[in-house]
Amino acid sequence: MLPKSHPRYDSLRQRERLTEGYKAGATALEGLIAFGRGEAFDYLLGERTPQTALSAIEASAELLLSAKNPVISVNGNTAVLCPRELVELSEIFGAKLEINLFYRTEERVRVIAKILKENGAKQVYGVEPEALLKGIESERRRVDREGINRADVVFVALEDGDRTQALIDADKKVIAVDLNPLSRTAKTATITIVDNIVRAVPLLIDASKRLKTVDIKKLESGQTTFDNQQNLKNSLKEIITGL
Ligand code: ATP
Ligand code: MG
Repeated sequence: MLPKSHPRYDSLRQRERLTEGYKAGATALEGLIAFGRGEAFDYLLGERTPQTALSAIEASAELLLSAKNPVISVNGNTAVLCPRELVELSEIFGAKLEINLFYRTEERVRVIAKILKENGAKQVYGVEPEALLKGIESERRRVDREGINRADVVFVALEDGDRTQALIDADKKVIAVDLNPLSRTAKTATITIVDNIVRAVPLLIDASKRLKTVDIKKLESGQTTFDNQQNLKNSLKEIITGL
């Protein structure tokens, strides 16, 4: 049992969720390694949401609110780290939840769908994906005909650079949550939120609640000018200053 008073409680709790997720068959062994890379960057951020992430979150909320068919892509790590929050995010933005896995097995898909449903999801896409995303070879190319296949905005986390590129090539806007501002995903996405998924999703929910009082038409016409490359440079500066 992990004592709440432990100075690294939050971090250890996340690890615990992932190892439990692995034992339950939701998370891939490789997912644990990917999380380790993320943790290293989180340490450099001081395990706090940087200012640049807040700007990216604001821009993401605007983009999601003006989207016609937004989809939230779920994998074996995000499904165990913050399932309830992902379901709430999908409800707030009227977005579909779609399972998309690199190490795809029917069993893993089944377990993840069950987790999402237990956390309130009414419908889960990507269980039997029939469409294929051009430009990638991995299992991640499989997309739901009614989900990512026809999405205009896709929200991803712990994503592969090649799929991010393929989504962009398919004329979709991509919002990526990635602790590593140097990853291919971070550099390729339309908007990159350099933050831990467990902090970023609740902040995105809050931002949407604030923005919902603003006229959506204004959002659509005014599409704020968010410069992702500049924001990524600023997040690196924030890391360096913090050090
Ligand atoms: P890319 O394919 O984009 O070049 P990569 O190959 O370095 O990235 P992957 O293993 O494909 O990395 O995906 C893991 C990514 O997710 C890493 O960039 C890592 O920093 C990030 N990551 C891991 N855990 C979290 C988390 N909890 N929140 C946000 N991002 C995370
Ligand atoms: Mg990768």
